[in-house]
Amino acid sequence: MNIKGTTSIYGIFGHPVVHSLSPLMHNSAFRSLGLDCVYVAFDVAPENLKSAAIAIRSMNIKGINVTIPHKERIMDFLDQVSSDAEITGAVNTVKNEDGKLTGYNTDVGGFLRAIKEDLDFNPRGKAALIFGAGGAARAVLTAFCTNQIQKITVVNRTAEKARGLVSEFQGTFNNIDINACSMSDVKGFEDTIAEVDIVVNSTSLGMEGKGKIDIPFQRIDKSAVVYDLVYKPHETGLIKDSKKAGLSAAGGIGMLLYQGAESFEIWTEMKAPVNEMKKVLL
Ligand code: NAP
Repeated sequence: MNIKGTTSIYGIFGHPVVHSLSPLMHNSAFRSLGLDCVYVAFDVAPENLKSAAIAIRSMNIKGINVTIPHKERIMDFLDQVSSDAEITGAVNTVKNEDGKLTGYNTDVGGFLRAIKEDLDFNPRGKAALIFGAGGAARAVLTAFCTNQIQKITVVNRTAEKARGLVSEFQGTFNNIDINACSMSDVKGFEDTIAEVDIVVNSTSLGMEGKGKIDIPFQRIDKSAVVYDLVYKPHETGLIKDSKKAGLSAAGGIGMLLYQGAESFEIWTEMKAPVNEMKKVLL
């Protein structure tokens, strides 16, 4: 990598950030297109987020990805946000155009592209069961609700959080049947699962092989598909069980790749070298 006075700087704000795969993915993309750009990881503690956001302008950083725990609070320091980011209530990509900062949420588009490419799934008119009610679940809800899904059930360990998320989305999308259910209400989601077309895990269960979402495969229709946002390991226990039960299933590496590709395209206005980016992720 040849860093010069002309090199444009991109990066990611997170805390912690050392495990992020984004520097690997974006630097390989810049390299493969011969762009004079570099991508670095910035470990930004919560109390430093404001000064880091100010530095995007003052240090002429061209673009930033934002990850846990800053995706919501970064919005306070931007000039405008995209509609996906507004609905989701979170930003994962910032573009700096002559000092004007715009926030986007490419997790939404990344998720949609992953379920299309990896599972050939289109949400229109379908029913979904989403495990989790955190930041990632918000992006999944936005993706489904803005793409004509018919019914969504959100299942979460902390039922209160699921109810809060559901009531927020019901307020914006009152034509969609959205319900909340506690993870301990086994009967509640067993009844729902018989009629779902897609099951999504957006909890951290299964991450690094820890914990697993157990679904009653005997009740689920064989045409249903399963998407697990967890990408470490590439094949989680949920994915293995789903495949064993004869369902199409995919892990979160596709979403990671496509959200990165969308960020790259927002920043550079060039087509992302997806194959190159995928190669380094795998
Ligand atoms: P988050 O905001 O912290 O939410 C975590 C969610 O997981 C909450 O719903 C939480 O339930 C649930 N959870 C955590 N531990 C649990 C346990 N032991 N049993 C049951 N539920 C548990 O995190 P996030 O940002 O939404 O991320 C969630 C996962 O998605 C992470 O593994 C992350 O790596 C992955 N992700 C992947 C991509 C991708 O590109 N593939 C993008 C974003 C996120 P409570 O509300 O009850 O605490």
